[in-house]
Amino acid sequence: MSDRFDLLVVGAGPAGIAAAASAADRGLRVGLVDDNPAPGGQIWRSGATQPAAARKLLAKLDATPVQRLQGWRVFDSPERGVLRAESENACRKLVYRSLILATGARERFLPFPGWTLPNVMGAGGLDAMVRGGLPIRDKRIVVAGTGPLLLAVAAHLARKGAKIVAICEQASLRQLVSLAAHLLNQPAKLLQGIEYSAATFGTRFYTSCWPAAANGNEKLESVTLERDGKRWDERCDYLACGYHLTPNLELPALLGCNIDDGFVATDELQRTSVQDVFCAGEPTGIGGVELALLEGQIAGLAAAGRTEEAKKLVPRRRRNLGFVRALRDATALDLRLRTLASDSTLVCRCEDVSFGALRAQSSWRDAKLHTRCGMGPCQGRICGSATEFLFGWSAVSPQSGVRPPIFPARVSSLSHPGKINVPAASQAPPIAINHKQSH
Ligand SMILES: Cc1cc2nc3c(=O)[nH]c(=O)nc-3n(C[C@H](O)[C@H](O)[C@H](O)COP(=O)(O)OP(=O)(O)OC[C@H]3O[C@@H](n4cnc5c(N)ncnc54)[C@H](O)[C@@H]3O)c2cc1C
Repeated sequence: MSDRFDLLVVGAGPAGIAAAASAADRGLRVGLVDDNPAPGGQIWRSGATQPAAARKLLAKLDATPVQRLQGWRVFDSPERGVLRAESENACRKLVYRSLILATGARERFLPFPGWTLPNVMGAGGLDAMVRGGLPIRDKRIVVAGTGPLLLAVAAHLARKGAKIVAICEQASLRQLVSLAAHLLNQPAKLLQGIEYSAATFGTRFYTSCWPAAANGNEKLESVTLERDGKRWDERCDYLACGYHLTPNLELPALLGCNIDDGFVATDELQRTSVQDVFCAGEPTGIGGVELALLEGQIAGLAAAGRTEEAKKLVPRRRRNLGFVRALRDATALDLRLRTLASDSTLVCRCEDVSFGALRAQSSWRDAKLHTRCGMGPCQGRICGSATEFLFGWSAVSPQSGVRPPIFPARVSSLSHPGKINVPAASQAPPIAINHKQSH
């Protein structure tokens, strides 16, 4: 199977949906590909809990002729202008003139003794399972890590009847106060923060605090928390733990997009360093759903040639960038978290590679070659960001050599003919790239 598009959008989260919907009404053939069965990305994919804004945007998308490819995961780009995607039982080539990458972000995990025990989960992961029907009433849950997701998840779990034992934020009080000051310019986020605080009212909230160990035999029974050098145990059924989000850079890196300070570099119209390739949403900086929507709109309009309309949105985007920087500072990891893993703690849980085995390596590449770290089913999506923090290695950048397939793929898909005749694209003039974090 192959499909040809004037514009192809990868990722049907808020950024990708906004991009496709904005680009679709000029007679362009637009495609929207996403690996989940339904559109919505991290925040909106569970239809039952979609807010009104999401339903409105999805209705707008429904009214367009955008070709939706749900349940298709892009795993390779065999040549310029061509992607390959795989579904549960098929593979197809997607040919495009312009491309918008809206691949979102995932949770970052850090290893500590016991973190691989059953019932130790990502904060967003547990939240998604509860949305999917996991019963949680009366369960004792410790929520830990860093970032606004902790409060959002704790509030949701509390509303579902869970007993939140404690919320442990690794950031210091000073970091949080500085983020709160920025929220004064973000009324929607401020309101959301107040709602979350009300839902978790009375729950113990610790700053500069983290899980030092997860304890149990068959599954989690308690968590050892650490704060100011003191340690104590809390009995619990679940530990929901995530250290903020890390962008999905594999596809941008595979295509050769410049990565600057951990995010895809774009100009103000969301153009990357690669001609006709745009990027929107979390891969350009973690800024929340409103910014993802705005960047999606800008990218969609710009990619559809409606540059003047796109430019009108740029000042609004610029105003949001202060929050991106503030969030980044507020979630900067405490270096003491590097000391939690012992030599026997697994860092790469797919290939059973321990912290001790990795300490003997000098780079991500060495670690892959000598220990198979990052070569299992998750392809370094979990251990890559952990080793970046623990050892300063860069797992995903064009320089570190991202190789296809970026997701595990069937042998039949890998041998699927990747060549197709595409009109040769001319070289674009250089464009000024400004990193979202540095505005
Ligand atoms: C539990 C949870 C609660 C949150 N609560 C809030 C909140 O209250 N307020 C707020 O502002 N933000 C919240 N966020 C953050 C919010 O989800 C993000 O800011 C927003 O989803 C970013 O949108 P996006 O389109 O950039 O990326 P995403 O929503 O991550 O969408 C990216 C999509 O691309 C798909 N994809 C990636 N790579 C490929 C590929 N190779 N092939 C096919 N598909 C691919 C992904 O599966 C995903 O569906 C929350 C996040 C989580 C996880």
